Amino acid sequence: MHKSTQEDSRIHNSRLVLSTIYNRGETSRAEVARLTGLTRTTVSEIVGRFIEESLVTETGVSPSRGGKPAILLQVNDDARHLIGIDLANSEFRGAVVNLRGRVIRRLYLPVDELDGQAAVALVYSLIEQLMAHVERPILGIGIGTPGLMDPQKGIVRQAVNLDWHELPLGDLLRQRFNLPIYIANDSQAAALGEFTFANPGRHNNLVIIKVGRGTSAGIVLDGKLFHGDNSGAGEIGHVKVVEAGAACRCGNTGCLETVVSSRALLRQAREIARQDPDWMLNRLAPAPEMFTTETLLLAYASGDPRVIEMVAQAGRHLAVAVAYLASTLNINHIVIAGSLSRFGEGLVQPVREQVQKGTLASLARQTEITVSSLGGDIVILGAASLLLSNELGLNLTGTGPQQ
Ligand SMILES: [Zn+2]
Repeated sequence: MHKSTQEDSRIHNSRLVLSTIYNRGETSRAEVARLTGLTRTTVSEIVGRFIEESLVTETGVSPSRGGKPAILLQVNDDARHLIGIDLANSEFRGAVVNLRGRVIRRLYLPVDELDGQAAVALVYSLIEQLMAHVERPILGIGIGTPGLMDPQKGIVRQAVNLDWHELPLGDLLRQRFNLPIYIANDSQAAALGEFTFANPGRHNNLVIIKVGRGTSAGIVLDGKLFHGDNSGAGEIGHVKVVEAGAACRCGNTGCLETVVSSRALLRQAREIARQDPDWMLNRLAPAPEMFTTETLLLAYASGDPRVIEMVAQAGRHLAVAVAYLASTLNINHIVIAGSLSRFGEGLVQPVREQVQKGTLASLARQTEITVSSLGGDIVILGAASLLLSNELGLNLTGTGPQQ
């Protein structure tokens, strides 16, 4: 064998062994050999190296079934720390997490309308503050950013809210922190986060629809993030769903985002509040301009019928996108995430009902629409997942809910 080929197969085998131990949770050398098809000797050599690097630990002995009891192996979840960053909200969110996605330290910095270079400086500041809480060797930094990305080059092609155009964010961060940097679009990162850390059914295919300030989807096919031809897979927010609808920030009218996003709901709520000064929402904030998603959640929780109907209407519009995605891809597991997912069944039940009316009965029956359990951490965890797969070569199959 050529030296490079030998080296390639050594790396391939190492990654295979580590992935198997990580995905099994707890296993033995013999089981790893059986699952990977590698010889016992090769597995023992590789495991030995991982134990030296403290990535893998021996945790005990399996109950004997007649033969020699097997020593159990686990990935040492705290052997490395990772930094995950989410730039897709009105605050920049970041966390230090361990190899299993457990959050060690969480930090949010308000964006306060900063954009351009000032927003880049805020990203630096967030990472520097998080670095102070990294207590183990660091694997790298993963980023989920809004807008269109070139994930290979780490360039943000366009992020309208942050006024970033052709921003070489990957290179800037690599120069500043001298660490491995991986960047994905926020919805695509969310799909990875859900797939890796909240996928107890170990589904190989899933769609995440992230509904927050904007609306977009992330798609996992056969256990891999699907990027599309120009890395824009899942950009459903600017598909027209309302004829003669409201103006959208993209320049068109009636886009999905104009009816399904936190901005859309806030715009409607402000209109109602101005027309009806006695409406309860006027008591929750000094002025309609100061309503936030929190205001709507409070009103929703107290049973305000107009907010309940606004959320349901958003769900019925969202159902159009869900029906197309479910029908086109025949993916049974659709997960709703983002700030509007906090309305829970109030948003999701109308989606289900409308999908049932709008697609083939058998398809609708198989389609399961749920709310993500990862809450506000979903993009951070997806960014961490980028590091696990790229830096450790983990072939992730979903590891169930985290403790
Ligand atoms: Zn639009």
